[in-house]
Amino acid sequence: MIGLFGGSFDPIHFGHLRPVVELQQALGLDVVRFIPCALPPHRQPTVASAAHRLEMVRLAVVGYAGFVVDDRELQRPEVSYTVDTLKDLRGEYPTSTFCLIMGMDAFVNLPTWYCWQDVLGLANIAVMRRPGAQVALPAWAQQIHCRQRSEFLGASSGQCYVQEVTPVDISATHVRNRLAKQTDVETMLPATVLHYIQQHQLYAKP
Ligand code: ATP
Repeated sequence: MIGLFGGSFDPIHFGHLRPVVELQQALGLDVVRFIPCALPPHRQPTVASAAHRLEMVRLAVVGYAGFVVDDRELQRPEVSYTVDTLKDLRGEYPTSTFCLIMGMDAFVNLPTWYCWQDVLGLANIAVMRRPGAQVALPAWAQQIHCRQRSEFLGASSGQCYVQEVTPVDISATHVRNRLAKQTDVETMLPATVLHYIQQHQLYAKP
C-alpha cells in the first residue's frame, strides 16, 4: 500500500510528521508520498508560495525512511483535486493500493470534496485522530469503516480505518501566528524548515 499525504503544508510541522511516522509503522507502509497542494479547493489561499512550501516539505522529509515528496499537484496551475491526483497515480502504479492519509478534521469533510465517491473508488483512507477533532465517525463513514487493521490492509479501495496516534497539538495556523509575533517555534518544526523560513522571511506579518 502506498501512503499519500496531501496538505497545504504552510508550513510543514511536527503535527504532520510525527503522527504520519506512527501511522506508517502501524500500517507497514513502505512509502508515504507527501503531496503539497496548489490552491486548496476548500481553503483560503496559502500564505507562502507553492515553491516555498514545496522546498520546506523537501527539507522536512530528509532523514525519514520512506517519506518522499511528490510535486505533481504543483505542476497543475489551477485547483488540486484529489480525484485527479489519484487517477494520475493509478496510471503510474497500476497494481498498487493507495492509502490516503488525513487528519480527522479533513476526513469528516470528505463529502464536500469534488467527486468524493470516485476518490473512495480509487483509494482507502487512513484517518489520524487529531487533538480537538470530532471523535464519532459520521454515518456515511461508519459504512466504510474497518475496525480491524487486517481487514483494511486487505481492501483494495473504498474503506477507512482510524489510527490512534500520539496527539501532537500543532497546526500550521498556530506556527504562522507565533512566527508573526516572533514567538519561539523551535519545538514545532524541523530546524531546517525554521532556518528556511527565517532565511526567506516567510510568515513575518500576521
Ligand atoms: P492550517 O492550520 O493552515 O489549517 P494544518 O496544520 O491543518 O494547516 P494542513 O497542511 O492543512 O495543515 O494539513 C494537512 C493534513 O494534515 C490534514 O489531513 C490535517 O488533518 C493533517 N494534520 C495537520 N496537523 C495535524 C496534527 N497536529 N495531527 C494530526 N493530523 C494533522
